[in-house]
Amino acid sequence: MRVRFAPSPTGLLHVGNARTALFNWLLARGGGGTFILRIEDTDAERSTPESERGILDDLRWLGLQWDEGPDVGGAYGPYRQSERLDLYRSYAGELLDAGQAYYCFCSPDALERERQAALEAGRPPQYSGACRALPPAEAARRVAAGEAAAVRFRVPARRDVAFEDVVRGTVRFDAGVIGDPVLLRSDGRPAYNFAVVVDDALMEVTHVVRGEDHVSNTPRQVLLYEALHFEAPVFAHLALVLGPDHTPLSKRHGATSVAEFRNRGILPEALLNYLALLGWSPGESEEILPAEELARRFSLEHVGRSSAVFDVEKLAWVNRHYLRDAAPARLAALAMPHLVEAGFVLAETATARDFAAAVMPLAAASVDRIEQIPARIRFLFEFDPGRARALEEVGRVLAEPGASAVIAALAADLAGAPRLVDRERFRAAAARIRQATGCKGRALFHPIRVALTGEAGGPELDLAVPAIERGAELPPGSGVAPVLGCRERAARFAGELQK
Ligand code: GLU
Repeated sequence: MRVRFAPSPTGLLHVGNARTALFNWLLARGGGGTFILRIEDTDAERSTPESERGILDDLRWLGLQWDEGPDVGGAYGPYRQSERLDLYRSYAGELLDAGQAYYCFCSPDALERERQAALEAGRPPQYSGACRALPPAEAARRVAAGEAAAVRFRVPARRDVAFEDVVRGTVRFDAGVIGDPVLLRSDGRPAYNFAVVVDDALMEVTHVVRGEDHVSNTPRQVLLYEALHFEAPVFAHLALVLGPDHTPLSKRHGATSVAEFRNRGILPEALLNYLALLGWSPGESEEILPAEELARRFSLEHVGRSSAVFDVEKLAWVNRHYLRDAAPARLAALAMPHLVEAGFVLAETATARDFAAAVMPLAAASVDRIEQIPARIRFLFEFDPGRARALEEVGRVLAEPGASAVIAALAADLAGAPRLVDRERFRAAAARIRQATGCKGRALFHPIRVALTGEAGGPELDLAVPAIERGAELPPGSGVAPVLGCRERAARFAGELQK
């Protein structure tokens, strides 16, 4: 099995196209096949090297490594269409010689007039065939004399074109509605339908898996396979990815590119897992599965015909799952730019990296995306009893009987205690305060939380308190913004309550 992903480098990698790449990759990885990356850059005005680089980066980030492609090479190269122009010319020559293609001298203006006239008359715009009947010798003379000419395919008259689509079943088109398509433009660049057939055939692609937007191109391609005596591959056209309003997912719906999701802190394994569920189901109601397992289970036969709606909430749910499982050091590295931006990390030192990794468990379990991590650990760096007291939920905690007594006891206890750098020391301190005040459970822990974090909710105190204390022990110049210790916090909060 040989499959390919064939992006045009004209922008960012759209998640719909990433899903196409992923389904090809799953098919190859699950069936011991080869995954080819081919760059379709014949549109010279719109293709850019930056876009190509971005697409390759995004595919690599997702973990969709290819076996053959422009950077890694392979036995069927080159893998950029702009480097294969001679091949297209030579196959167009064969079709010209066989009378299955002809030169077309119609000017762009004339073609445009023809198109407008057809549209006004309510007919599908289709080439009229003005140059179809030119005697080949005359056409050859005009070309030799330097006249600009495109090469057009002579669509066989009056017959239907049908092909089997693994997803959609038999697809049938009336060849009468297919105007003779251009194969080579007058500047020598190939048209998509021609280049794709030559390339898929020469690269021995066995399965063409691509978006449904190409279904209407496939009949032309099927006719070209026949004319060139190539064996056609198996086709599978994937239903489009839609936005919540059931129109094709576009910028109007928000983020659409892999790069945007990456920048917002979606983990690559989460995006990959989520995209696999768009139009396919691994079965048995399991949805969170690693890439290898998805590949093992994937089959084109189980890809659904109907379009899939891109569900940002579900992506967040999948991402939360992977964030919980991710190694703290990796999360810290991913969160680092956000921590720097928030002013929590002043310099990316080894200490800052270690500290960030140590506090990740506080944050990662309760965020949808990495960019939300700083807000979860803000309490480490910002502590203002006056402002905390003004918060409604904090006020409610402070109004409970015994709350002030707990905070006073906490301040007194911590004044003489070593820093609570682990869970055990924190638990021991809490036990002493319970003894001193008779408060327990919520009546004990809510005031302690408020006094130490300035917030009524947040991560487990067992984790939050040691994190504060470890932060407070960092020497100046560590690269981490200053963290006020629990002793100082309790004292200031108790002082605030005296006011
Ligand atoms: N370059 C085409 C695209 O990006 C590829 C279509 C195909 O897979 O044949 O839509």
